[in-house]
Amino acid sequence: MAQRLSSHDHLFVLTGAGVSAESGLPTFRGVNGIWRGYRVEDVATPKAFAADPALVWQFYSERRRRHETVLPNLAHFALAELERALADRFFLCTQNVDSLHEQAGSKRVVHMHGRIMQSRCSRANCSTAPFDDRSLYQSAEEIPKCRTCGAPIRPHICWFGEVPFHMELILHQLEGATVLLTVGTSGVVEPAASFVWMARRNGAQTIYVGPEEPSNGGYFDEVMLGKAGEVLPDLVEDVIGLGN
Ligand code: NAD
Repeated sequence: MAQRLSSHDHLFVLTGAGVSAESGLPTFRGVNGIWRGYRVEDVATPKAFAADPALVWQFYSERRRRHETVLPNLAHFALAELERALADRFFLCTQNVDSLHEQAGSKRVVHMHGRIMQSRCSRANCSTAPFDDRSLYQSAEEIPKCRTCGAPIRPHICWFGEVPFHMELILHQLEGATVLLTVGTSGVVEPAASFVWMARRNGAQTIYVGPEEPSNGGYFDEVMLGKAGEVLPDLVEDVIGLGN
């Protein structure tokens, strides 16, 4: 990548659960995957929330508790450094709901799947905006109601069957990208899994970093096998060292 980046390049970075694995947050499909003990359809769909909001909140409260204890790793810091170096020629889109990129110093992070430490009204067209919320809810009685419309408050997370956030901005940035760097995502969850072929279609160079080849590995020009925290610091140093 270092050789390919010039002062005209625009870098689009997509991160997934793998970038936070070395911080101690389990990945989606890892051995200690976060869904262990829960069926996805019981905790991560609008239907599940309508059927049993307390169970859904127990699951996300458990995750909030876990997220309070983790710290960014070298991969998060490297990407924050790259943002400072490339400024407007850098765009960071994450599938992660944690705040580790921000904790490492990244200023402009687009969370396409929402944020674990935010909540919002569960009614689709309610005017109440998502808000910061670190509360833990264990029972139906504890779940607050929206001040505007009275519907129950839900986690600000994109569930299965829902449309990810900020897609217009993301697709616009993807169109303008000359290099796509994807880190720690299995290439299964759509639409993020298709970003690589969209970028390729526009002529971008595509690079993947992670310990194993992702499902969409065939679309990448280069697959750099290794942990994000080990590969990214050197990669970023090379790029910045070239005066970009
Ligand atoms: P995934 O679990 O499907 O895939 C994780 C990928 O990370 C795997 O391909 C694995 O090889 C790779 N990986 C593991 N350790 C790594 C390391 N040290 N460095 C680099 N890569 C590593 O995750 P996904 O593709 O991001 O999709 C899962 C969905 O679950 C996403 O929507 C995501 O938002 C969500 N999720 C988020 C978090 C989080 O916010 N930290 C954690 C788990 C899941």
